[in-house]
Amino acid sequence: MTENRLPEPAHTVYLGLGTNLGDRAANLAEAVARLGEHLAVKQESPIYETEPWGITDQPAFLNQCICGETMLTPHRLLRIMKGIEAEMGRQTIVRYGPRLIDLDILLYDKLHYSSYSLTIPHPRMIDRIFVLAPLADIAGDVVHPGLGCTIRELLGRVDHSVIRRL
Ligand code: AMP
Repeated sequence: MTENRLPEPAHTVYLGLGTNLGDRAANLAEAVARLGEHLAVKQESPIYETEPWGITDQPAFLNQCICGETMLTPHRLLRIMKGIEAEMGRQTIVRYGPRLIDLDILLYDKLHYSSYSLTIPHPRMIDRIFVLAPLADIAGDVVHPGLGCTIRELLGRVDHSVIRRL
């Protein structure tokens, strides 16, 4: 009987945000507000500015991480995030090129999962200072599932020269 069922606990997710076009701070704020329509935003990291990598002839990125609680499945959450990226006018033409907003699922509870379209934890987060620096501010003691070390420990292993906290 549904009225006797205990409510399922919400899932804790850490999301990464990045932008290097237009009013970058406003883009982050709008993305957080839009995400807040689908999950309960519990924490927002400080914002960091990072020199572009991959394609270096483009504006610097602003990056931020948030922690949220949600009942959404990982794939449903990804679909919503891709929808927000599309609505905010992301240009997907160039990989690692300029973008209005880029949203990634970094961590989802202690989930370790990989499919064609989704890998959790995000496979490239462990060597990206622009993910690890803001993530460590709100999840320094969280253990990376699979690697068994904390986000703070991962942060200690990467080059800090290309990033500054705003
Ligand atoms: P990106 O260019 O970084 O936005 O990534 C493009 C694709 O990566 C997306 O369309 C997703 O299907 C895929 N992807 C795989 N794992 C993740 C993840 N953890 N978070 C976001 N996108 C992911």
